Amino acid sequence: MDCIFCKIVNKELPAWLVAETEDYLAFLDIKPVQPGHTLVIPKKHYEDLLSLPEESAVGLIKFAKIVAKAVVKGTASSGFNLTLNNGVTAGQVINHCHFHIIPRLAHDQLPAWPHKDYQINQAEDLSVKIAAYFKEL
Ligand code: 5GP
Ligand code: ZN
Repeated sequence: MDCIFCKIVNKELPAWLVAETEDYLAFLDIKPVQPGHTLVIPKKHYEDLLSLPEESAVGLIKFAKIVAKAVVKGTASSGFNLTLNNGVTAGQVINHCHFHIIPRLAHDQLPAWPHKDYQINQAEDLSVKIAAYFKEL
């Protein structure tokens, strides 16, 4: 399969590995937002979080939690962002499901998400709509 992360799993491409289990792998991002920026992936190829079977998703978040502790210690950081870009519009470039663990330091000056205000009735309409879809799942 022509997937960079599958190639890293299969050791066909090099990576700075930081943790490995039977089912999951963690390695440094090649272009870090911050030094120590780590990617956490299931070894099996799934395109995104919504394609990932429940059991793998649970295992992935458990693994990410442990790796995050090591990233924080290893980079002497005081916190981290755990993010996942799901889909092209969300910024997903590599179509192999992955979390980013981005270590954070005080005054690292990384930009924060911009926040918006709701228009009149917009929040109520959206909450009702989303809740209705949730009930169907
Ligand atoms: P996405 O935008 O899909 O959520 O994130 C993909 C990430 O993979 C990016 O942060 C990018 O720097 C990283 N990346 C892309 N190619 C490689 C590679 O060959 N090796 C490693 N270690 N990271 C990569
Ligand atoms: Zn893959």
